[in-house]
Amino acid sequence: EANSVAKEIIKPNFNFSELGIGGLDDEFSNIFRRAFVSRIFPPSIVEKMGIQHVKGILLYGPPGTGKTLMARQIGKMLNSREPLIVNGPEILNKFVGQSEENVRKLFAPAEAEYKAKGEESGLHIIIFDELDAICKQRGSKNDGTGTGDSIVNQLLSKMDGVDQLNNILIIGMTNRMDMIDEALLRPGRLEIHMEINLPDEKGRVQILNVHTQKMRKYDLLEPDVDLKEIAALTKNFSGAEIAGLIKSASSFAFNRHVKIGDNAQVAQDFDKIKIARSDFIHALEEVRPAFGVAETELQ
Ligand code: ATP
Repeated sequence: EANSVAKEIIKPNFNFSELGIGGLDDEFSNIFRRAFVSRIFPPSIVEKMGIQHVKGILLYGPPGTGKTLMARQIGKMLNSREPLIVNGPEILNKFVGQSEENVRKLFAPAEAEYKAKGEESGLHIIIFDELDAICKQRGSKNDGTGTGDSIVNQLLSKMDGVDQLNNILIIGMTNRMDMIDEALLRPGRLEIHMEINLPDEKGRVQILNVHTQKMRKYDLLEPDVDLKEIAALTKNFSGAEIAGLIKSASSFAFNRHVKIGDNAQVAQDFDKIKIARSDFIHALEEVRPAFGVAETELQ
């Protein structure tokens, strides 16, 4: 009987080890439990419990910590269409009414599918990156255009409409929680608020592992490179900054193999290139964390 069949919202052959997210295991499983697990159950069971699916999540925290990455990967994992990703600033349009129209259009495909298929409709995920850009608090006209109010109002009315639709999940993201209009954060709207913070040391080891996966596979790291040591030296680095550090270290390694002079560039021993501990030590001098103070102590 159809009513007792689980909804296959996760791709059947999805490989969780390929998520490519370092150090956010707890956050990932919490988001999954709070926002998705109810959607696996047959609608009749959920209805009996008298609960409604979560309609919106807000991920907030410092830049470069993997918020966008996580939202995208959630989309990849699900047996639904590709999530729709929009940037707050993209929505803004100087022409009267056009920004509101842009918001309206985002919801139109999901609304049409729900009209046609009801509960059989697939899940539509709408990701709002830089949500703060469209939410300069209502009443304050500090965006210079005075359009902030009506865009937020349009978004609110769309989200309230989502109450009737069970096929939409909105993921908002911001570095500026203080800029988000409170009305958006109420139950039934972006009701789950999850902070995605800078990674701790264990998380940094995982992120270093993710981003050196190929180098390790092709044996391109010297044996003196100890990812645990690098993790200890990168306190307050975000995931994006750790990725930047690895890029910088590789540039030092490339550079050791290139002689530049007399209008000639000669690269030597292409296949002997390996990234050494000293490349990371050099990189640590040029890639610094934007938030907090690096506590890099070199012996
Ligand atoms: P912003 O607020 O600036 O948009 P964000 O939190 O959304 O930042 P992402 O765009 O997800 O950050 O991260 C930028 C890049 O940094 C990612 O594409 C990835 O390469 C790397 N990165 C960040 N966090 C992680 C992580 N936890 N694991 C692996 N890579 C990460």
